[in-house]
Amino acid sequence: MNKIGVLALQGSFNEHYNALLKLKLQNNLEIEPLLVRSINDLNQVNLLIIPGGESTVIRKLLIKSGLFELIKKRINKDLAVWGTCAGAILLSSNIISSTKDQSSFNGIDITIERNAYGAAQDSFESQIYIQEFGKEIPAVFIRAPKIRSVSDKVVIMAKTNNENIVAAYKDKCLVTTFHPELTNDLSFHEYFVKKFS
Ligand code: GLN
Repeated sequence: MNKIGVLALQGSFNEHYNALLKLKLQNNLEIEPLLVRSINDLNQVNLLIIPGGESTVIRKLLIKSGLFELIKKRINKDLAVWGTCAGAILLSSNIISSTKDQSSFNGIDITIERNAYGAAQDSFESQIYIQEFGKEIPAVFIRAPKIRSVSDKVVIMAKTNNENIVAAYKDKCLVTTFHPELTNDLSFHEYFVKKFS
C-alpha cells in the first residue's frame, strides 16, 4: 500500500486527507493517506502534501518538530511534494513578504508574493482551465499568494484570465496557489498521486 503523506501541523490537512480517501474509494487505488506530524511519520512516505493555512505558523511548527530540515533534505533526494497556497509559499525559492523569517524548502525556482490578492475579504472562487487535464476545475483562493516569476525549467500548468500563474511544477515539486482540497474535484489529487507514485 502506497502511503501518501499530508503534513498535519496547521491548516487544511483534514480536507486533503479526506480528498485522498475519496480518491482511493472512487478509483480503487492502492493508496493510504497518512497524517505527518513527526519524523517517524515522514520516514514512511515518498509523497507529501503541504496544505494551505498560515505559512509563518506552519514554518514555526516545522522547525520546532525537526521536520523542516528533514523535509528539505528529502526534497533534494526522493520526496515528491505538492504545496497548496501556504504550502506553495513554503516550497518557493524566493518569498516576498513583510514578515522577516521567510526561509523555505527551496523546492521550486519561483518568486511568490504572500497575500498578493489582498486581505481575507478578497478571497474568491473561479474556474481555471488546466491544459494537462483538458478541462476546467473550480479553484478557491483564500488570501492567496501570486507567483511573480518562474525560472526557465518550471512548467506552468495554469493561469487565471488575468495571466496570474496559479499552478506550476518542476521535477517532483508541484505548487498550486489555490485549494483543490476545498472542492469536490479530485483531479489534482489524482494527478499528484499518479504522477509520482
Ligand atoms: N496567506 C497565507 C500565508 O501567507 C496563505 C493562505 C492560505 O494558505 N490559504 O501563509
